[in-house]
Parts: sequence; C-alpha cells; structure tokens
Amino acid sequence: MANSEFQYVRSFETWDALPPSNWIVVRIDGRGFSKLCKKYDFAKPNDRRALDLMNAAAVEVVRSFVDIVLAYGQSDEYSFIFHESAQLFERRAVKLATSVATQFTAEYCMLWPKYMQGVELERPWPTFDGRCVCYPKRKILRDYLAWRQADCHINNLYNTTFWNLVLKGGRTGTEAEEELKGTVSGDKNEILFTKFGINYNKEDEIYRKGTVVYRAYDLEVNGQERNKEATEGSKSQLEKEKKRKMKAKIEVEHCDIIGDGFWEKRPYILASKRGEDYGE
Ligand code: ATP
Ligand code: ATP
Ligand code: MG
Ligand code: MG
Repeated sequence: MANSEFQYVRSFETWDALPPSNWIVVRIDGRGFSKLCKKYDFAKPNDRRALDLMNAAAVEVVRSFVDIVLAYGQSDEYSFIFHESAQLFERRAVKLATSVATQFTAEYCMLWPKYMQGVELERPWPTFDGRCVCYPKRKILRDYLAWRQADCHINNLYNTTFWNLVLKGGRTGTEAEEELKGTVSGDKNEILFTKFGINYNKEDEIYRKGTVVYRAYDLEVNGQERNKEATEGSKSQLEKEKKRKMKAKIEVEHCDIIGDGFWEKRPYILASKRGEDYGE
C-alpha cells in the first residue's frame, strides 16, 4: 500500500511542527459546560465535585506525558505546559492538542462516577477542545499563567457575588447582573461582606486560586543523581531522565503562581535542562 498510486494525497497534509525552544501550552476547555452545569445541577458558583474531577483528570494527563512540567486549571479549562525542549510528536501541534484533549476527555468521563457519585452520565458525553500556543520566553509563559489565574480570580469574585445575590439575596439573575454592572472588585468584596457576612479572602483557595499540578523532585537526591548521570552516555541519560520524571511525585496545590514565591521555591519546574538553574 505504501507506494500505491494514491500515495500522493499525503502531500496535501500540512506540517505543523511548533518552533523549537518555545514553551508549549496545550489548553483544553470543556465544550458547552454552561449547559452541562445546568443539566447535572452543578452547585453555583462552584461545584466542588466537578472541580475535583477536573483535577483528577489533569493529574492523569500530567502523569502520562512526561514532558509536561506543570498544569494550571480553573473552571472547565486546563493548561498543560510542555517543556521548551519537548520532542513529543516532533512538536506537531495537532498531534499534541488532540492527544491531550482526548486523554483528558477519556479520564474525565471514566472518573465521573467516582467524583459525581449517584449522578449518571448521559449523552452528549462531556468533551474538551484543545489548542496549542507557543511562548518563546519564561517571562511570557509566566505572564500566560498569571493571565489564567487572574481570570480565575475575576470570574470567581463576580460569580460568588452574583450567586449570593441570587441565592441568598432573592434577586433575579437580571437584577443581580444589573446591580453588579460597573462595580470594581472592592465593591464586590463590600457587597459580600456587608450583605452576606462573607470575607472573600477566606473563601476556599481552590475557588480563588484555581489548581496547580506539577512534578515535584527531591532536589537533594536528584542533584546527586544528576551529577552521576552527567558522566554517563547521553542515551542512558535520556532514559534515566524519563524514569526520573515518571517516578516524580505529582503535587496538586491551590496557591498563588502570579508572584515569584512559588517559582523561587521550585526552580526545577522551569529549569532549562537538568542541573541548570531557572533563568534565561
Ligand atoms: P464553550 O464550549 O465555548 O467553552 P462553555 O459553556 O463551556 O462554552 P465557558 O466560557 O468555558 O463556556 O464557561 C464554562 C462555564 O461552566 C462557566 O459558566 C463556569 O462558571 C461553569 N463551570 C465550570 N466548572 C464549574 C464548576 N465546577 N462549578 C460550577 N460551574 C462551573
Ligand atoms: P501512533 O500513535 O503513531 O498512531 P500506532 O501504534 O497507533 O502509533 P498506527 O500507524 O496508527 O500506529 O497503526 C495502528 C496499528 O493498529 C496497525 O498496526 C494496525 O494494524 C493495528 N490495528 C488497528 N486496528 C486494528 C484492528 N481492528 N484489528 C487489528 N489490528 C488493528
Ligand atoms: Mg467551556
Ligand atoms: Mg471555560
């Protein structure tokens, strides 16, 4: 078949390898989740079970793609960061995006009964779209993650205020929307505090900050291992690197990733190569 007269059609395919030395973000997002939330009666503004399910699916994706250094999720979306030197699928964009989105979808559906106990999943099954975006510098990648976390904060503050006005304040959706028009974050904090006795900063971090998933290395041990490996051949070094990544513990946290603190404590996450420090 390989050399049949039909072979030429292959040349119609476009080569979509992403440029080298760029951090690759694969962002997946739930399709039609506004509708899905209503159908399965998700708690508003945040259904904890559904967020735990998103996070569990993301952990499995991170586990199986060893080139993913970190993932950040909120609402119905997750961003998976592939290391700038990743070579998976020769960095082909569609292969990367579809593989991540389909694995996430499969995990989400298969893990549903565990997290959404007693809620039967029906057609149309939940699905996720996926896209790749390249960031040529750590600084821009950090800004990308900051953008998603800031989005989480803005949406969550709005949604928390909106749903308190509706569920506890007896407003209709339109009334609550009208009341929030033109308000800044200070106003929303004030409404939550004075009308509902809620201190927004005491709301659970999973809602305010979203979720970070990353491979955690024991720096001390790995530092020594690295020195040992550096003296060995490059192929076995690569093999060991892969094993090291597969063995690494996957951490799940709900913390600030906009400031430098998170990154300074874990310089290995965005390190250029093994043994090198964070930096350009
Ligand atoms: P699209 O297919 O274009 O992505 P969508 O309906 O999924 O459309 P989004 O902008 O992705 O639109 O919004 C997702 C919606 O799902 C938001 O309204 C968000 O509040 C809601 N949502 C996601 N996760 C949860 C959750 N755990 N609890 C409650 N609501 C949620
Ligand atoms: P990649 O991830 O690169 O696609 P792959 O292992 O999936 O790798 P393919 O080129 O897609 O490679 O080949 C699929 C393989 O699965 C072929 O060897 C094909 O013969 C086998 N296969 C697919 N469907 C069936 C089937 N129904 N019964 C038996 N073998 C099958
Ligand atoms: Mg969506
Ligand atoms: Mg979304």
